[in-house]
Amino acid sequence: MSDLLITNVRPEDGAPSDILITGGRIAAIGPGLTAPPGTPVRDGAGAIALAPFVEPHVHLDKILWGLPWHPINVPAGLRAMIDNEVEIRRNLPYSVEDRAGRLMRQCVAMGSTHIRSHIDISTFYKLDNVHGVLAAWEQMKDAVGLELVAFPQTGMMIDPGCADLMEAALDEGVSVIGGIDPGTIDGDPKGHLDSIFGMADRKGAKIDIHLHESGELGLYEMGLICDRTAALGLQGRVVISHAFCLGDGPPDKVAAMIDRLAELQIGIISAVPGEIAFPPMFRLANRGVPCALASDSIRDTWNPHGNGDMLDRCWLFAFRSWCRTDAELRACMDMGRARGADLLGLQGHGLAVGCEGSLVLVPGENRAQVLVDRPTRALVVKSGRIVAEAGRYTGPGAV
Ligand SMILES: [Zn+2]
Repeated sequence: MSDLLITNVRPEDGAPSDILITGGRIAAIGPGLTAPPGTPVRDGAGAIALAPFVEPHVHLDKILWGLPWHPINVPAGLRAMIDNEVEIRRNLPYSVEDRAGRLMRQCVAMGSTHIRSHIDISTFYKLDNVHGVLAAWEQMKDAVGLELVAFPQTGMMIDPGCADLMEAALDEGVSVIGGIDPGTIDGDPKGHLDSIFGMADRKGAKIDIHLHESGELGLYEMGLICDRTAALGLQGRVVISHAFCLGDGPPDKVAAMIDRLAELQIGIISAVPGEIAFPPMFRLANRGVPCALASDSIRDTWNPHGNGDMLDRCWLFAFRSWCRTDAELRACMDMGRARGADLLGLQGHGLAVGCEGSLVLVPGENRAQVLVDRPTRALVVKSGRIVAEAGRYTGPGAV
Protein backbone atom coordinates (compact mmCIF):
# COMPACT_ATOMS: atom_id res chain seq x y z
CA MET A 1 0.00 0.00 0.00
CA SER A 2 1.64 3.18 -1.16
CA ASP A 3 1.02 6.85 -1.82
CA LEU A 4 1.50 8.45 -5.23
CA LEU A 5 0.38 11.59 -7.06
CA ILE A 6 0.26 11.28 -10.84
CA THR A 7 -0.24 14.59 -12.58
CA ASN A 8 -1.40 15.49 -16.08
CA VAL A 9 -3.19 12.36 -17.24
CA ARG A 10 -6.52 11.77 -18.98
CA PRO A 11 -8.54 9.16 -17.05
CA GLU A 12 -10.15 6.80 -19.60
CA ASP A 13 -9.28 9.44 -22.26
CA GLY A 14 -11.36 12.12 -20.50
CA ALA A 15 -10.37 15.64 -19.41
CA PRO A 16 -6.82 16.29 -18.09
CA SER A 17 -6.61 15.49 -14.38
CA ASP A 18 -4.33 14.46 -11.57
CA ILE A 19 -4.83 11.21 -9.64
CA LEU A 20 -3.93 11.03 -5.96
CA ILE A 21 -3.43 7.60 -4.39
CA THR A 22 -3.11 7.32 -0.62
CA GLY A 23 -2.82 4.11 1.34
CA GLY A 24 -3.07 2.15 -1.90
CA ARG A 25 -6.49 3.61 -2.84
CA ILE A 26 -7.56 6.42 -5.15
CA ALA A 27 -8.18 9.37 -2.87
CA ALA A 28 -8.95 12.08 -5.44
CA ILE A 29 -9.19 12.67 -9.19
CA GLY A 30 -9.22 16.19 -10.60
CA PRO A 31 -7.13 19.10 -11.81
CA GLY A 32 -4.56 20.83 -9.62
CA LEU A 33 -4.37 18.27 -6.83
CA THR A 34 -1.80 18.64 -4.10
CA ALA A 35 -0.32 15.75 -2.19
CA PRO A 36 0.64 15.45 1.47
CA PRO A 37 4.33 16.22 2.08
CA GLY A 38 6.62 13.35 1.15
CA THR A 39 4.22 11.84 -1.39
CA PRO A 40 6.04 10.76 -4.58
CA VAL A 41 4.91 12.71 -7.66
CA ARG A 42 5.04 11.54 -11.28
CA ASP A 43 4.29 13.61 -14.36
CA GLY A 44 1.92 11.61 -16.58
CA ALA A 45 2.88 13.74 -19.61
CA GLY A 46 -0.66 13.80 -20.94
CA ALA A 47 -0.98 10.03 -21.20
CA ILE A 48 -4.30 8.20 -21.00
CA ALA A 49 -4.85 6.57 -17.61
CA LEU A 50 -6.64 3.25 -17.84
CA ALA A 51 -8.07 0.99 -15.18
CA PRO A 52 -5.71 -2.00 -15.27
CA PHE A 53 -6.07 -5.13 -17.35
CA VAL A 54 -7.11 -8.44 -15.80
CA GLU A 55 -5.76 -11.83 -16.92
CA PRO A 56 -8.44 -14.34 -15.90
CA HIS A 57 -7.08 -17.51 -17.51
CA VAL A 58 -3.44 -18.38 -18.03
CA HIS A 59 -1.16 -21.34 -17.24
CA LEU A 60 1.85 -20.08 -15.28
CA ASP A 61 3.33 -23.56 -14.83
CA LYS A 62 3.22 -24.52 -18.52
CA ILE A 63 5.08 -21.49 -19.85
CA LEU A 64 8.39 -21.92 -21.67
CA TRP A 65 9.00 -18.17 -21.55
CA GLY A 66 12.66 -17.29 -21.30
CA LEU A 67 13.85 -20.56 -22.80
CA PRO A 68 15.25 -20.83 -26.31
CA TRP A 69 12.59 -21.04 -29.02
CA HIS A 70 10.60 -24.22 -28.66
CA PRO A 71 9.46 -25.58 -32.02
CA ILE A 72 5.96 -27.00 -31.77
CA ASN A 73 5.79 -30.55 -33.04
CA VAL A 74 2.45 -31.44 -31.56
CA PRO A 75 1.40 -35.03 -31.99
CA ALA A 76 -2.10 -35.73 -33.24
CA GLY A 77 -4.82 -36.20 -30.66
CA LEU A 78 -5.52 -34.66 -27.27
CA ARG A 79 -4.09 -37.56 -25.26
CA ALA A 80 -0.86 -37.47 -27.24
CA MET A 81 -0.56 -33.69 -26.71
CA ILE A 82 -1.05 -34.14 -22.97
CA ASP A 83 1.58 -36.88 -22.78
CA ASN A 84 3.92 -34.81 -24.96
CA GLU A 85 3.71 -31.92 -22.48
CA VAL A 86 4.46 -34.10 -19.47
CA GLU A 87 7.51 -35.55 -21.19
CA ILE A 88 8.91 -32.16 -22.23
CA ARG A 89 8.33 -30.57 -18.82
CA ARG A 90 10.07 -33.49 -17.16
CA ASN A 91 13.37 -32.36 -18.69
CA LEU A 92 13.13 -28.57 -18.62
CA PRO A 93 16.26 -26.71 -17.47
CA TYR A 94 14.23 -24.05 -15.61
CA SER A 95 12.02 -24.57 -12.58
CA VAL A 96 8.32 -23.79 -12.40
CA GLU A 97 9.18 -20.95 -10.02
CA ASP A 98 11.56 -19.41 -12.54
CA ARG A 99 9.24 -19.74 -15.53
CA ALA A 100 6.11 -18.59 -13.67
CA GLY A 101 7.97 -15.56 -12.33
CA ARG A 102 9.03 -14.56 -15.83
CA LEU A 103 5.47 -14.70 -17.15
CA MET A 104 4.00 -12.85 -14.18
CA ARG A 105 6.53 -10.04 -14.66
CA GLN A 106 5.65 -9.91 -18.35
CA CYS A 107 1.90 -9.74 -17.60
CA VAL A 108 2.46 -6.87 -15.16
CA ALA A 109 4.68 -5.02 -17.65
CA MET A 110 1.81 -5.23 -20.15
CA GLY A 111 -0.63 -3.76 -17.61
CA SER A 112 -2.32 -6.70 -15.89
CA THR A 113 -2.42 -6.34 -12.12
CA HIS A 114 -4.44 -9.49 -11.40
CA ILE A 115 -4.02 -13.04 -12.72
CA ARG A 116 -6.06 -16.23 -12.42
CA SER A 117 -3.89 -19.21 -13.34
CA HIS A 118 -4.77 -22.86 -13.75
CA ILE A 119 -2.06 -25.13 -12.29
CA ASP A 120 -1.57 -28.76 -13.32
CA ILE A 121 -2.16 -31.27 -10.54
CA SER A 122 -1.80 -35.03 -10.97
CA THR A 123 -0.34 -37.99 -9.11
CA PHE A 124 2.80 -37.41 -11.20
CA TYR A 125 3.14 -33.68 -10.47
CA LYS A 126 1.52 -33.85 -7.03
CA LEU A 127 1.42 -30.23 -5.74
CA ASP A 128 4.88 -29.30 -7.01
CA ASN A 129 3.54 -26.88 -9.63
CA VAL A 130 1.36 -25.11 -7.04
CA HIS A 131 4.32 -24.72 -4.72
CA GLY A 132 6.56 -23.44 -7.56
CA VAL A 133 4.09 -20.80 -8.70
CA LEU A 134 3.40 -19.64 -5.14
CA ALA A 135 7.15 -19.34 -4.51
CA ALA A 136 7.44 -17.06 -7.54
CA TRP A 137 4.46 -14.99 -6.45
CA GLU A 138 5.78 -14.64 -2.91
CA GLN A 139 8.50 -12.36 -4.27
CA MET A 140 6.13 -10.11 -6.18
CA LYS A 141 2.78 -10.23 -4.42
CA ASP A 142 2.79 -6.44 -4.02
CA ALA A 143 2.84 -6.13 -7.82
CA VAL A 144 0.06 -8.50 -8.88
CA GLY A 145 -2.93 -10.29 -7.41
CA LEU A 146 -3.00 -14.04 -8.00
CA GLU A 147 -5.72 -16.66 -7.83
CA LEU A 148 -4.93 -20.33 -8.52
CA VAL A 149 -7.11 -23.07 -10.01
CA ALA A 150 -6.45 -26.76 -9.29
CA PHE A 151 -6.37 -28.12 -12.84
CA PRO A 152 -6.48 -31.86 -13.71
CA GLN A 153 -4.88 -31.48 -17.14
CA THR A 154 -3.96 -35.14 -17.45
CA GLY A 155 -7.31 -36.46 -16.23
CA MET A 156 -8.90 -36.88 -12.82
CA MET A 157 -11.11 -39.97 -12.74
CA ILE A 158 -8.51 -41.88 -14.77
CA ASP A 159 -5.76 -40.85 -12.31
CA PRO A 160 -6.81 -42.26 -8.91
CA GLY A 161 -5.54 -39.91 -6.20
CA CYS A 162 -5.67 -36.78 -8.37
CA ALA A 163 -8.96 -35.58 -6.89
CA ASP A 164 -7.56 -35.93 -3.36
CA LEU A 165 -4.55 -33.82 -4.35
CA MET A 166 -6.81 -31.17 -5.90
CA GLU A 167 -8.84 -30.95 -2.72
CA ALA A 168 -5.66 -30.82 -0.64
CA ALA A 169 -4.47 -27.91 -2.79
CA LEU A 170 -7.38 -25.88 -1.41
CA ASP A 171 -5.55 -25.88 1.92
CA GLU A 172 -2.32 -24.70 0.30
CA GLY A 173 -3.18 -21.46 -1.45
CA VAL A 174 -5.50 -22.62 -4.24
CA SER A 175 -9.03 -21.21 -4.18
CA VAL A 176 -10.69 -22.55 -7.34
CA ILE A 177 -11.40 -26.13 -8.45
CA GLY A 178 -10.82 -26.77 -12.15
CA GLY A 179 -12.05 -29.42 -14.53
CA ILE A 180 -11.54 -30.41 -18.14
CA ASP A 181 -13.63 -31.95 -20.90
CA PRO A 182 -15.50 -34.41 -18.66
CA GLY A 183 -16.49 -36.64 -21.55
CA THR A 184 -13.31 -36.70 -23.63
CA ILE A 185 -10.62 -36.87 -20.96
CA ASP A 186 -12.26 -38.85 -18.19
CA GLY A 187 -15.03 -40.51 -20.19
CA ASP A 188 -17.43 -39.90 -17.32
CA PRO A 189 -19.10 -36.48 -17.49
CA LYS A 190 -21.37 -36.93 -14.48
CA GLY A 191 -18.67 -38.53 -12.31
CA HIS A 192 -16.14 -35.81 -13.19
CA LEU A 193 -18.56 -32.99 -12.47
CA ASP A 194 -19.98 -34.58 -9.31
CA SER A 195 -16.44 -34.86 -7.98
CA ILE A 196 -15.38 -31.26 -8.61
CA PHE A 197 -18.68 -29.77 -7.49
CA GLY A 198 -18.45 -31.91 -4.35
CA MET A 199 -15.00 -30.50 -3.57
CA ALA A 200 -16.19 -26.93 -4.14
CA ASP A 201 -19.22 -27.49 -1.95
CA ARG A 202 -17.22 -29.02 0.91
CA LYS A 203 -14.48 -26.39 0.84
CA GLY A 204 -16.39 -23.27 -0.21
CA ALA A 205 -14.26 -23.03 -3.37
CA LYS A 206 -15.11 -21.51 -6.72
CA ILE A 207 -15.13 -23.56 -9.95
CA ASP A 208 -13.54 -22.90 -13.37
CA ILE A 209 -13.93 -25.68 -15.97
CA HIS A 210 -12.11 -26.01 -19.30
CA LEU A 211 -14.82 -27.05 -21.77
CA HIS A 212 -13.44 -27.48 -25.28
CA GLU A 213 -16.05 -30.02 -26.33
CA SER A 214 -18.14 -28.47 -29.06
CA GLY A 215 -21.68 -28.73 -30.41
CA GLU A 216 -24.27 -30.98 -28.82
CA LEU A 217 -21.78 -32.72 -26.48
CA GLY A 218 -20.51 -29.43 -25.10
CA LEU A 219 -24.05 -28.11 -24.60
CA TYR A 220 -25.06 -31.33 -22.85
CA GLU A 221 -22.14 -31.01 -20.45
CA MET A 222 -22.87 -27.32 -19.95
CA GLY A 223 -26.37 -28.35 -18.93
CA LEU A 224 -24.88 -30.73 -16.35
CA ILE A 225 -22.78 -27.85 -15.01
CA CYS A 226 -25.90 -25.67 -14.78
CA ASP A 227 -27.82 -28.41 -12.94
CA ARG A 228 -25.10 -28.75 -10.32
CA THR A 229 -24.64 -24.99 -9.96
CA ALA A 230 -28.34 -24.59 -9.22
CA ALA A 231 -28.57 -27.61 -6.91
CA LEU A 232 -25.68 -26.44 -4.72
CA GLY A 233 -26.54 -22.75 -4.79
CA LEU A 234 -23.25 -21.83 -6.47
CA GLN A 235 -24.68 -19.03 -8.59
CA GLY A 236 -21.97 -16.48 -9.40
CA ARG A 237 -19.15 -18.86 -8.38
CA VAL A 238 -18.80 -21.00 -11.52
CA VAL A 239 -16.91 -20.17 -14.73
CA ILE A 240 -16.67 -22.12 -17.98
CA SER A 241 -13.53 -21.43 -19.99
CA HIS A 242 -13.54 -21.69 -23.80
CA ALA A 243 -17.14 -22.93 -24.25
CA PHE A 244 -16.72 -23.52 -27.99
CA CYS A 245 -20.19 -25.09 -28.05
CA LEU A 246 -21.73 -21.63 -27.65
CA GLY A 247 -20.07 -20.71 -30.94
CA ASP A 248 -20.91 -23.80 -32.97
CA GLY A 249 -23.94 -25.41 -31.33
CA PRO A 250 -27.49 -25.47 -32.76
CA PRO A 251 -28.82 -21.87 -32.55
CA ASP A 252 -32.00 -22.70 -30.65
CA LYS A 253 -30.11 -24.69 -28.02
CA VAL A 254 -27.43 -22.02 -27.73
CA ALA A 255 -30.11 -19.37 -27.15
CA ALA A 256 -31.70 -21.43 -24.38
CA MET A 257 -28.31 -22.08 -22.79
CA ILE A 258 -27.41 -18.38 -22.78
CA ASP A 259 -30.61 -17.68 -20.85
CA ARG A 260 -29.68 -20.36 -18.34
CA LEU A 261 -26.12 -19.06 -17.93
CA ALA A 262 -27.50 -15.59 -17.23
CA GLU A 263 -29.98 -16.92 -14.70
CA LEU A 264 -27.24 -18.84 -12.84
CA GLN A 265 -24.57 -16.14 -13.35
CA ILE A 266 -22.14 -18.69 -14.78
CA GLY A 267 -19.19 -16.84 -16.32
CA ILE A 268 -17.72 -17.48 -19.77
CA ILE A 269 -14.04 -16.88 -20.63
CA SER A 270 -12.70 -16.97 -24.19
CA ALA A 271 -9.13 -16.81 -25.45
CA VAL A 272 -10.37 -16.03 -28.99
CA PRO A 273 -8.98 -19.22 -30.56
CA GLY A 274 -7.51 -19.08 -34.01
CA GLU A 275 -9.43 -21.66 -35.95
CA ILE A 276 -12.47 -22.50 -33.86
CA ALA A 277 -15.79 -20.74 -33.37
CA PHE A 278 -15.84 -18.95 -30.04
CA PRO A 279 -18.74 -17.80 -27.86
CA PRO A 280 -20.74 -14.71 -28.92
CA MET A 281 -19.22 -12.52 -26.23
CA PHE A 282 -21.22 -9.33 -26.79
CA ARG A 283 -24.46 -11.30 -27.00
CA LEU A 284 -23.56 -12.98 -23.71
CA ALA A 285 -22.66 -9.65 -22.11
CA ASN A 286 -25.88 -8.02 -23.32
CA ARG A 287 -27.88 -10.90 -21.85
CA GLY A 288 -26.17 -10.39 -18.49
CA VAL A 289 -23.75 -13.34 -18.57
CA PRO A 290 -20.40 -12.51 -16.87
CA CYS A 291 -17.80 -12.84 -19.62
CA ALA A 292 -14.19 -11.87 -20.31
CA LEU A 293 -11.20 -12.47 -22.55
CA ALA A 294 -7.99 -14.24 -21.53
CA SER A 295 -4.63 -15.39 -22.90
CA ASP A 296 -4.82 -19.10 -21.94
CA SER A 297 -1.85 -21.03 -23.36
CA ILE A 298 1.22 -18.85 -24.04
CA ARG A 299 4.43 -20.16 -25.61
CA ASP A 300 4.19 -23.64 -24.17
CA THR A 301 4.10 -27.14 -25.58
CA TRP A 302 0.60 -26.48 -26.90
CA ASN A 303 0.95 -23.09 -28.51
CA PRO A 304 3.88 -20.97 -29.79
CA HIS A 305 1.81 -17.73 -29.78
CA GLY A 306 0.97 -15.18 -27.10
CA ASN A 307 2.78 -12.53 -25.08
CA GLY A 308 0.75 -12.04 -21.91
CA ASP A 309 -0.60 -8.74 -23.22
CA MET A 310 -4.34 -8.42 -22.61
CA LEU A 311 -4.46 -5.30 -24.81
CA ASP A 312 -3.26 -7.50 -27.67
CA ARG A 313 -5.90 -10.08 -26.83
CA CYS A 314 -8.62 -7.42 -26.83
CA TRP A 315 -7.41 -6.23 -30.23
CA LEU A 316 -7.48 -9.80 -31.55
CA PHE A 317 -11.06 -10.13 -30.35
CA ALA A 318 -11.95 -6.82 -32.04
CA PHE A 319 -10.32 -7.95 -35.28
CA ARG A 320 -12.03 -11.33 -35.35
CA SER A 321 -15.36 -9.80 -34.36
CA TRP A 322 -15.01 -7.10 -37.05
CA CYS A 323 -15.51 -4.29 -34.57
CA ARG A 324 -14.81 -0.90 -36.15
CA THR A 325 -16.65 1.94 -34.39
CA ASP A 326 -15.03 3.67 -31.43
CA ALA A 327 -17.80 2.44 -29.14
CA GLU A 328 -17.24 -1.15 -30.27
CA LEU A 329 -13.48 -0.86 -29.81
CA ARG A 330 -13.89 0.54 -26.30
CA ALA A 331 -16.24 -2.33 -25.49
CA CYS A 332 -13.62 -4.80 -26.74
CA MET A 333 -11.03 -3.28 -24.40
CA ASP A 334 -13.41 -3.60 -21.46
CA MET A 335 -13.56 -7.37 -22.13
CA GLY A 336 -9.98 -7.43 -20.84
CA ARG A 337 -10.49 -5.04 -17.93
CA ALA A 338 -13.79 -4.30 -16.15
CA ARG A 339 -15.56 -7.43 -17.38
CA GLY A 340 -12.65 -9.61 -16.27
CA ALA A 341 -12.69 -7.94 -12.85
CA ASP A 342 -16.44 -8.47 -12.54
CA LEU A 343 -16.18 -12.11 -13.60
CA LEU A 344 -13.49 -12.80 -11.00
CA GLY A 345 -15.33 -10.82 -8.33
CA LEU A 346 -12.48 -8.35 -7.82
CA GLN A 347 -13.36 -5.49 -5.52
CA GLY A 348 -12.36 -1.91 -6.25
CA HIS A 349 -11.34 -2.22 -9.90
CA GLY A 350 -11.72 1.06 -11.79
CA LEU A 351 -10.65 4.66 -11.95
CA ALA A 352 -12.82 6.27 -9.32
CA VAL A 353 -12.33 7.60 -5.82
CA GLY A 354 -12.25 4.70 -3.38
CA CYS A 355 -11.08 2.17 -5.97
CA GLU A 356 -7.77 0.32 -5.68
CA GLY A 357 -4.94 2.66 -6.66
CA SER A 358 -3.97 0.63 -9.70
CA LEU A 359 -3.78 1.95 -13.23
CA VAL A 360 -1.96 1.87 -16.54
CA LEU A 361 -0.63 4.88 -18.45
CA VAL A 362 -0.47 4.72 -22.24
CA PRO A 363 0.40 7.46 -24.71
CA GLY A 364 -2.36 7.98 -27.24
CA GLU A 365 -5.29 9.96 -28.57
CA ASN A 366 -8.15 7.88 -27.19
CA ARG A 367 -9.00 4.31 -26.13
CA ALA A 368 -10.09 3.24 -29.61
CA GLN A 369 -6.78 4.30 -31.12
CA VAL A 370 -4.87 2.71 -28.23
CA LEU A 371 -6.61 -0.61 -28.86
CA VAL A 372 -5.67 -0.53 -32.52
CA ASP A 373 -2.06 0.69 -32.06
CA ARG A 374 -1.31 -1.05 -28.73
CA PRO A 375 1.43 1.35 -27.58
CA THR A 376 4.04 0.42 -24.98
CA ARG A 377 2.65 0.84 -21.49
CA ALA A 378 4.39 3.93 -20.08
CA LEU A 379 3.64 3.16 -16.43
CA VAL A 380 1.87 0.43 -14.47
CA VAL A 381 0.82 1.14 -10.88
CA LYS A 382 -0.46 -1.43 -8.37
CA SER A 383 -2.02 -0.08 -5.17
CA GLY A 384 0.03 3.12 -5.45
CA ARG A 385 3.31 1.33 -6.18
CA ILE A 386 5.02 1.75 -9.57
CA VAL A 387 5.62 -1.79 -10.84
CA ALA A 388 6.50 -1.28 -14.51
CA GLU A 389 7.86 1.51 -16.67
CA ALA A 390 8.26 1.78 -20.44
CA GLY A 391 7.14 -1.83 -20.94
CA ARG A 392 9.55 -3.30 -18.38
CA TYR A 393 8.77 -4.79 -15.00
CA THR A 394 10.37 -2.75 -12.20
CA GLY A 395 8.48 -4.05 -9.16
CA PRO A 396 9.65 -6.33 -6.36
CA GLY A 397 11.71 -9.23 -7.65
CA ALA A 398 12.69 -7.39 -10.85
CA VAL A 399 15.68 -8.91 -12.62
ZN1 LIG B 1 -6.45 -23.18 -20.26
